[in-house]
Amino acid sequence: MLYSRCWKTTKGGDIIYKPKFIYNHIDQHVHTTISHDGKSTMREYLEIAARKNVQEITFTEHYDIYDGVKSDLKTIEINPYWRVYKEATKDAPIKTHFGIEIGLRPECSTEIKSMTHVYDFDFIIGSSHITCGIDISKNNVFFKGKTMQNAYWAYFNDVRKNIDTYEDFDVYGHLDYIVRYGGYGCTEIKYSDYASVLDDILRTLVRKRKGLEINTSGFRYGLNYAHPTTAILQKYYDLGGRIITVGSDAHHVDQLAGNFKEAYRTLAKIGFTSIAVFEYRDPHFIEIKSLKSRAN
Ligand SMILES: [Zn+2]
Ligand SMILES: [Zn+2]
Repeated sequence: MLYSRCWKTTKGGDIIYKPKFIYNHIDQHVHTTISHDGKSTMREYLEIAARKNVQEITFTEHYDIYDGVKSDLKTIEINPYWRVYKEATKDAPIKTHFGIEIGLRPECSTEIKSMTHVYDFDFIIGSSHITCGIDISKNNVFFKGKTMQNAYWAYFNDVRKNIDTYEDFDVYGHLDYIVRYGGYGCTEIKYSDYASVLDDILRTLVRKRKGLEINTSGFRYGLNYAHPTTAILQKYYDLGGRIITVGSDAHHVDQLAGNFKEAYRTLAKIGFTSIAVFEYRDPHFIEIKSLKSRAN
């Protein structure tokens, strides 16, 4: 059991709940107001981190290319992002890392590769937000006229192309993100329905020594699990994959390190004993049990 509960009686006789142990979290997927949909500033995250037992944060602003996509959004520029990061973190009370979440698209490989070769990131998440030239989170356009299986197959085929095309990312973010959209009821995907494409994706990740992210935003979206599902994480583990990062995908300080204990429980059940923390693009492995300490 990773988490222990304890009820205590105060001097006044009130019974209060106090956890016996706490976890010191490392959140490696955080958006600030630099991202188009971020609601909190970098400073605000750093101010609240200690209260949420967060000892390290990796900022991972969105970098999506909108060429040929119906969208008013613009790709962020890295230089201003770097300047804000340096200024906000120069006297930070916790350790921070400079990361990015790239919306990978097979057709944008030249532009994405030239960006990642120029800047020194600690950590790069590769994600799929735009699939077949359509932002899948917007207006249901991607899903129009498709059955759920057709839509998910198209999405996972695009993920497979990304993983075949790119080397310059460290983990794949929220791998089954598509389940949030399409109005199919936000249900958990059935691994066996997509086994051949998922097996390819996971085998390639392991062969290329790439990691998977466990992204706890799934809980915020009303799912009972983090992205991706336990079955996908289990298969990655069974194929020999051991590079797992934990991220909240926070867009507001209230979401920082949300549901991390559930993520640790899921990982432990599968057999993972460590998480990876990236610095200068190198994974450092930290035992999950070492994140736990006795509460005061
Ligand atoms: Zn994302
Ligand atoms: Zn994100």
